[in-house]
Amino acid sequence: MTRPLILVSNDDGIRAPGLRTLAEVAAEFGDVVVCAPTEERSGFGHAITLRASLRSEAAPEFGPNWYAVSGTPVDCVYLAALHLCERLPDLVLSGINPGYNLGADVFYSGTVGAAREGMIRGTSALAVSVEGDTPPAVAVPFIRELVPTLLERGAAGERHLLNLNVPRSGAPRGLHVTRLGYRCYDDQVDKREDLMGRSYFWIGGPPSPLDEKADADIGAVSRGYAAVTPLELDITAPDLDDWARWIEQKRSS
Ligand code: MN
Repeated sequence: MTRPLILVSNDDGIRAPGLRTLAEVAAEFGDVVVCAPTEERSGFGHAITLRASLRSEAAPEFGPNWYAVSGTPVDCVYLAALHLCERLPDLVLSGINPGYNLGADVFYSGTVGAAREGMIRGTSALAVSVEGDTPPAVAVPFIRELVPTLLERGAAGERHLLNLNVPRSGAPRGLHVTRLGYRCYDDQVDKREDLMGRSYFWIGGPPSPLDEKADADIGAVSRGYAAVTPLELDITAPDLDDWARWIEQKRSS
């Protein structure tokens, strides 16, 4: 049997310590290609570069089959899956991000964006984040638990997208399967003035206390568990009938 091909990426750039840790775990399970942004691209979500060219450089100083791409995390996965890898990878791993990606963070996160791009390109994917500045190694036991499952289910023709978040505690208490919670941030628009007297802004405030709902990712990590949230590409609301009725009523009134 051929060894699985695993593509590793991130949003923190090719030099990020979490990327090396993730590539090392990946190598336990398959042949590894690493393709990551040249610079940090945190918060780039699912951005793709369509109006500018991309450069891809081999980065042998980091390892064989390491590439740095002058674009976003999604650019990296797109280019690697379709061009740099000799075939479509069996799995995309993204991270290990220093900082949680919980609740609505998944829409902003480049870490999750890269994983989701793997799913769109036709392969299972796992995004990995740890609390704050926790050493990335804290996530390794959980990655070792999830990767064989994704590969097995992938071999059976199933594709899955998982979002893993691991808290700081020395040994997290276990792994909970969760849904996305509701993560609140303090809204913040900070208006400042440059030397020419023109205004400029910093947006984005700190997270407010975590939502404690039992089945939510946010509640699980706050109780010391690692949280794995299976995600779907289809974010359509579950009940279309309600909207169909509402529109029908509006039309007939
Ligand atoms: Mn990041």
